[in-house]
Amino acid sequence: MITLKSEREIKKIKEAGHVLYGALMAAGEACIPGKTTKEVDKVIEDYIVSHGYNPSEKNYSEGDEIPFPASSCISVNDAIIHGIPNEYVLKKGDLVKIDVVVDKDGYYADAARAFIVKDEDEIDEDYPEQKRLVEVTKQSFFEGIKYAKVGNRISDISHAIQEYVEKNGYSVLREFQGHGVGIAMHEDPGIPNFGKPGKGPRLQEGMVLAIEPMVCQGRKEIMESDDGWSIITEDGSLGCHYENTIAITKNGPIILTNE
Ligand code: MG
Repeated sequence: MITLKSEREIKKIKEAGHVLYGALMAAGEACIPGKTTKEVDKVIEDYIVSHGYNPSEKNYSEGDEIPFPASSCISVNDAIIHGIPNEYVLKKGDLVKIDVVVDKDGYYADAARAFIVKDEDEIDEDYPEQKRLVEVTKQSFFEGIKYAKVGNRISDISHAIQEYVEKNGYSVLREFQGHGVGIAMHEDPGIPNFGKPGKGPRLQEGMVLAIEPMVCQGRKEIMESDDGWSIITEDGSLGCHYENTIAITKNGPIILTNE
């Protein structure tokens, strides 16, 4: 069932999204050589909690999975999503994807960013392979939401994402997708990152959606890693992820997970 949110509810989700954005930026600053992903997760948790919000991913589980043990998903290099923060020590050139959900008073926001680990005197341009993958993944989100208009269908967004990613020589994974969000972490509808346009529910004012392209540098096939959570590319190529929560309004989409 798709729930439509009121203006007041969208405001609450945006407030959570603002804290989430701050947590992601703090996490990006912490992605430096020598830090463990567990230490980065601690930065995220502290940021969220100190702002009076909850890191929703902590102890999250679906069905009989082990509860998720951290406040963020941190996925490095060939891991695309659902990475568990651990003792892995970040090194120069690592591509780190951080996916966080924040809630308060029953309102949820969901977003992800990718960061390139580098020394203080380096810039992203020093890592052109990673940088291009990050930029294409991010831009595919913006290509997708050009279609996030009242009256369009869900797969119009999906199609635009796939087309842009493939045009740039990468692939989109098929097994995971975007989703409704706002009064729960995962709501209907599902929003694949591929497919023909003109399918799925029509977009309506008040829909709140997490749009999240998941992109493989090489082939689209994935597998689960030994930790029981991380999703990694089968061919070992880099994976990338970019996500925002958006609201559908009569004046077009509004991003709820930014400054
Ligand atoms: Mg997410």
